Amino acid sequence: MATLQMRDIQKSYGGLSVIKGIDLEVADRELVVFVGPSGCGKSTLLRMIAGLEDISGGDLYIDGKRMNEIGPADRGLAMVFQSYALYPHMTVRQNMGFALKLAHVSRQERERKVAEAARILQLEPYLDRKPGQMSGGQRQRVAIGRAIVRNPKIFLFDEPLSNLDAALRGQMRIELARLHEELNATMIYVTHDQIEAMTMADKIVVLQAGRIEQVGTPLQLYHHPANLFVAGFIGAPR
Ligand code: ADP
Ligand code: MG
Repeated sequence: MATLQMRDIQKSYGGLSVIKGIDLEVADRELVVFVGPSGCGKSTLLRMIAGLEDISGGDLYIDGKRMNEIGPADRGLAMVFQSYALYPHMTVRQNMGFALKLAHVSRQERERKVAEAARILQLEPYLDRKPGQMSGGQRQRVAIGRAIVRNPKIFLFDEPLSNLDAALRGQMRIELARLHEELNATMIYVTHDQIEAMTMADKIVVLQAGRIEQVGTPLQLYHHPANLFVAGFIGAPR
């Protein structure tokens, strides 16, 4: 069970306002995609949810509990970074188990969780390889595996596919949708790619210049865009 609420969330950097009052509800097990052009504030918003950035104004709740002053390790979330954030000198097994080791999880429990994540992500044949011996798609699955082993209430993804080629991105979109089904987890997924948003989301949040332009299902946005920005952005994939 994991819900998220934002009430008038704001962020400014030294007087420059970049997030200008976001109100949003994320339901349990929903896959919500934040989409918008580069610089609109997607990463900033995600990092505030993760606790990696202070919140300048407003309130953030997870399962009804106010999170503004709670540290990142205590929010029950896991953020999936791009695959190049893997430790190059560690094997896949070590990369996936490392956060658990830091948290003093027993070796037996770590092995169980890594094996489970490897099964879900079809990484079993690669557990003893190092990231440099794997393809971009396989490395991205390891980055996701590092989040899965922590059993988070909410998964946060920041453009996880942006450095993969088009064919692999298509395949990973399908895999991520399957993962969402299998894990039955709440997920917030950031992308500037309209196709990713339209094919993966239960609910899309369209952002521009620190504000929400529209929230809706892919079909709602496609058939009933609230304004020309949404119509142009959703209707005209680059
Ligand atoms: P997106 O992820 O949608 O591309 P970001 O959230 O990274 O956008 O950035 C939103 C805006 O905030 C941009 O104008 C960016 O320049 C600004 N910004 C982001 N991080 C900082 C920072 N640490 N200091 C100052 N400005 C920042
Ligand atoms: Mg970003």
